[in-house]
Amino acid sequence: MRVITTIKEMQAEIKKLKSQSKSIGFVPTMGFLHEGHLTLLNKARIENDSVVLSIFVNPLQFGPTEDFSTYPRDFARDQSLAECEGVDIIFYPSVEEMYPHSSSVRVIVQDRTDVMCGKSRPGHFDGVATVLTKLFTIVMPTRAYFGIKDAQQVAVVEGLISDFNFPIELIAVDIVREVDGLAKSSRNVNLLPEERSEAVVLYKSLTAAKNAIEGGERNPQTIKNLVSGIIHSETQGQIDYVEIYSYPQLKEIENLEGTCIIALAVKFSKVRLIDNIIITVRQEIGGEK
Ligand code: AMP
Repeated sequence: MRVITTIKEMQAEIKKLKSQSKSIGFVPTMGFLHEGHLTLLNKARIENDSVVLSIFVNPLQFGPTEDFSTYPRDFARDQSLAECEGVDIIFYPSVEEMYPHSSSVRVIVQDRTDVMCGKSRPGHFDGVATVLTKLFTIVMPTRAYFGIKDAQQVAVVEGLISDFNFPIELIAVDIVREVDGLAKSSRNVNLLPEERSEAVVLYKSLTAAKNAIEGGERNPQTIKNLVSGIIHSETQGQIDYVEIYSYPQLKEIENLEGTCIIALAVKFSKVRLIDNIIITVRQEIGGEK
């Protein structure tokens, strides 16, 4: 496994792989790897000749009051986990390497960002799309792997790949959870012990929503109230949003029908957690579900 820190060296390595007609599986991350990331790497390993993992905490996607400086980092640990997953190259550039001067071009995401995290984190997806445009251009992957944990990101990346004609296959991977249901996240280490116990309620509330829908409930507002009510009564967390849309279009819906996402974000003292559940509601025929 090689660790590459410069863009020039990375491009030379990719050129070599391309000349050998090797397929490249790419997993972009911010590091502090957990089983969610490892699942993406494992899938990339199975499906490609070469696997490139990038580790870059991208300042462009953090707002001024967000957790860029406290975002957990442990490169030595990441390196040994990546080695175990059979990663061929870790691309680990510095901020100066990625953004050596104030940028002359930024990517602005027009669609699917007026809701959920796009609404509460203005500029976040522009930062994501800008760094991914750079990373896609540098790594030139055959396939890029993203987690449904960040479902809105998957929807935005789909638009980026399609609009900019990147010859990349987007592979979306299911959410990996702790045994108690909490979605794995690098940020979970910044939860206080009491908050960690409460955080399980997020998945519990989404499961209650799923059960209600399976029981016949079709009104999005009723489901949102159910989810918010559970989080309110069982955690100290502050709800940022509980929203329901069609997926991946992220459009408002009057009735739960087709493929929908129930997504939430909750702020604890030092961490804001997100989670979601995507469900397909079949059309009712003759009163039958
Ligand atoms: P991050 O390092 O948080 O930017 O995440 C890097 C990639 O891993 C993104 O595509 C995430 O959606 C994905 N990811 C993060 N957490 C999970 C999880 N619990 N399950 C599956 N994928 C995840």
